[in-house]
Amino acid sequence: MSQIIDGKAISAQIKEEVKAQVAAYRDRGAEITLAVIQVGNDPASSVYVGNKKKACAYVGIRSLAYELPEETTEEELLTLIADLNERGDVHGILVQLPLPAQIDENKVINAIDPRKDVDGFHPQNVGALCTGQDGFVSCTPAGIIQLLKRSGISIERKECVVIGRSNIVGKPMALLLLKENGTVTVCHSKTKNVKEVAKRADILVAAVGKPRMITEEYVKEGAVVIDVGIHRNAENKLCGDVDYESVAPHTSAITPVPGGVGPMTIAMLMYNCVEAYRFCERNQ
Ligand code: NAP
Repeated sequence: MSQIIDGKAISAQIKEEVKAQVAAYRDRGAEITLAVIQVGNDPASSVYVGNKKKACAYVGIRSLAYELPEETTEEELLTLIADLNERGDVHGILVQLPLPAQIDENKVINAIDPRKDVDGFHPQNVGALCTGQDGFVSCTPAGIIQLLKRSGISIERKECVVIGRSNIVGKPMALLLLKENGTVTVCHSKTKNVKEVAKRADILVAAVGKPRMITEEYVKEGAVVIDVGIHRNAENKLCGDVDYESVAPHTSAITPVPGGVGPMTIAMLMYNCVEAYRFCERNQ
C-alpha cells in the first residue's frame, strides 16, 4: 500500500515550531517582520500574497504589505527595495512574481539584500546552495526535503530524478537532493527518453508544469513520487503534474494535490523569516 505523504499535517507541524520560536523572540522584545511587495493585481498573485499574510499572522510575524499599481516603474520598485534593505526593523523582503513586463525580474531579485532574501532567489543564495554554504533556500524544494525527511524517507544513495529545471523549483531541488547524498538526474524539455530516465528513479520529483503528464509509464514500481504541479482541470478541480490515479498504486509513497507540496512552500517561507531575523541578530 502506498503511503500518502501528508503535506497539510507536516506544514502545520512546521508552522507550530515556527510559531513557538517567534513567540520566544517576541518575549525578548523582538518583532520579526516580512515586507511583501505585489505589483499589479493578478488574481493568482493576490491569492498567494493573501495566504502569505495569513500565515504571517498565524505564526506571529509582522507583515508589511506594499500593493503597487500595475504601471509601477522598475526604478520605483528598486527604490522601495533599497529602502527596505536599509531598514533595521525589516528582516525579510519578498517580491511576488511574476512582475509586469516593464520590470526586469532579475534586476529586482538581484537588488534584494541577500540577507533578507527569504525566497532564496538571489544569486548569492543560489551560489551558497551550490557550494554547500549557509544561505536561504527556495521554499518549495526546501519544503520537499522536509516532506521526505519527516515521512521517514531517506535520500542517501537513492536514484533521484527531477523533471524540470526552473530556477525556483527544478534546479534547487536537484542541488538539495545532491546535498542529501542522492544520485541526481535532471530532465527538461530537450531530454531524450524522459520516461526511461524517470523509470530509473527511487525518488521522482515532477516539476514540469504540465497537468497529469506523469503517468504510470514514467514510474518504477515502489518509487516515491513528489508532485510539485498545481493546475485546475476542466471541472475547476486542482490537479498536479502527476496522473495520481494511475501512478499511486505503483508507488511506495506519493504526495497528493492538493495537500502535498503546496502547503509546504508557505511553511518554509515562515521558517526562512525566522532565519532572516537570526541572521540580523547575529550581525548587530
Ligand atoms: P516552469 O518554470 O514552467 O518549468 C517547467 C520545467 O519543465 C522546465 O524546465 C521545462 O523544460 C520542463 N519541461 C516542460 N515540458 C517538459 C517535458 N515534456 N518533458 C520534460 N521536461 C519538460 O515551472 P516551475 O515554476 O518549475 O513549476 C513547475 C510546476 O510546479 C508548475 O505546475 C507550477 O505551478 C508548480 N509550482 C508549485 C509550487 C508549490 O508551491 N506547490 C511552487 C512553484 C511551482 P525547459 O527548461 O527545457 O523549458
